[in-house]
Amino acid sequence: MTIIPGQGPCFRCVFRELPERSVTSTADVGILGSIAGIIGCIQATEAVKYLLGQGDLLVNRMLTMDGLTMSFLEVEIRRDNQCPDCGNN
Ligand SMILES: [Zn+2]
Repeated sequence: MTIIPGQGPCFRCVFRELPERSVTSTADVGILGSIAGIIGCIQATEAVKYLLGQGDLLVNRMLTMDGLTMSFLEVEIRRDNQCPDCGNN
């Protein structure tokens, strides 16, 4: 999900509350480096597209990846007017 203030939803529109500490942390269980690399490359591509003003950014869309099946899913995300960070108030 590419977040551009004023143009689409922010992170908090999607994840209103911070996760409970009981949620497993990557600090506790680690992370598969190759997955971080894949996601990092996608994020870098989004940044280059933004800087060049080219292509369709992942604004209003969240791209998820399932590494076990190597499948991607795109979900439409809308700005929450009640969002404490970017809402109308
Ligand atoms: Zn928001």
